[in-house]
Amino acid sequence: MIYLDHQASSPLLPKVLDAMLPYLTEEHANPHSDDHAAGWRAADAIAQAREKIAGRLGADAGEVIFTSGATEANNLAILGLCCEPVPRNRILVGAIEHKSVLAPARALSERGFKVITLPVDASGIVDLEALSRLLDDRVLLVSVQLVNNEIGAVQPVDRIAAMAHAVGALVHCDAAQALAWRAIDVNALGIDLLSLSGHKTGGPKGVGALYARHDVRVQLRPLIFGGEQEGGLRAGTLPTPLCVGLGVACASEPDDSAVRAWQGRRDSLRDFLRAHEPNMVIHGPVVGRHPGNLNVGFPGVDADQIIAQLQPDIAVSRGSACTSGIPEPSHVLRAIGLDAVACAEAVRISLGPLTTEQELERTAAAFARALLAARAEGRIAVAG
Ligand code: PMP
Repeated sequence: MIYLDHQASSPLLPKVLDAMLPYLTEEHANPHSDDHAAGWRAADAIAQAREKIAGRLGADAGEVIFTSGATEANNLAILGLCCEPVPRNRILVGAIEHKSVLAPARALSERGFKVITLPVDASGIVDLEALSRLLDDRVLLVSVQLVNNEIGAVQPVDRIAAMAHAVGALVHCDAAQALAWRAIDVNALGIDLLSLSGHKTGGPKGVGALYARHDVRVQLRPLIFGGEQEGGLRAGTLPTPLCVGLGVACASEPDDSAVRAWQGRRDSLRDFLRAHEPNMVIHGPVVGRHPGNLNVGFPGVDADQIIAQLQPDIAVSRGSACTSGIPEPSHVLRAIGLDAVACAEAVRISLGPLTTEQELERTAAAFARALLAARAEGRIAVAG
């Protein structure tokens, strides 16, 4: 199988597995057991992982809270910060945020907060003029992701943060899709709260972290109760192997030449596909997107048909999400102006840093065959 769904989940890096293994086998103590040396060793491993994550972000270890992933980190940032709609009651969220940002924000609108969606342009970039009009001293929080999971758009988070801070609002950034390929310095970006996920960056599934600047951290309220772990902010025994794995996955900064090569292979795939299918459309930004992200549509052919034809050889994903068995057009693609038919035709292809040129040639040939077969089936795209 050629795996081109790295933005959904990336393979575990061998060095991450090596670091985790002792804590899955012989080192099984509870990291919160402070009565014996085995517990101290587990606690020490977690402390080192926390240091690595903080180091990667330019933060202090005390500003890192372990979570089960970016979903929980996003929930903790938004619901944990926005408890009382006084004195500020407005929350601004980007239109193409992940649902783990949009859903908690929506929940707050039932608790007296006014949640306002920030429009994006055809590339998915937040409209800074609209943001400027919406920012005033009623805004408590602005939540904007660093990198989008469907179209790879990169937000100007540093500018957004400067604008938000000028009116005294705080900034949360979902950086789940950024850690694998770019530097993240929370101070340079001016971010107050930042969410991370292990499995988008060569780490394990089931772990992530929330960075909360010291003075913001004290304003957070827990979502999970029942223990004093994470300074009372997140009850529950920390999963030592997962925390260690996240630490190692975070430790290495991606190097520029590897990222350029990654992007170059993505562009080769785009060119191979276009050579087969000149009508192919590309969704999302033309330049400056996630180096592995390609979101394409083949007019007249439903993404479901192509993806089914590609099985079991190639893993790519649909542009539209399936909720409770009902396909619904992606809110991201809708926000950048696609109609329901174009959404149903969208295929997200996400390459990893180690995807090879040879795999891409085979992928392009497989797409050409899949398109022929899908057209021969005679079905036309249906709106989701
Ligand atoms: N935010 C973004 C931008 C994502 O891509 C994802 C994963 N699809 C999440 C949040 C949720 O991450 P996790 O799987 O770690 O909960």
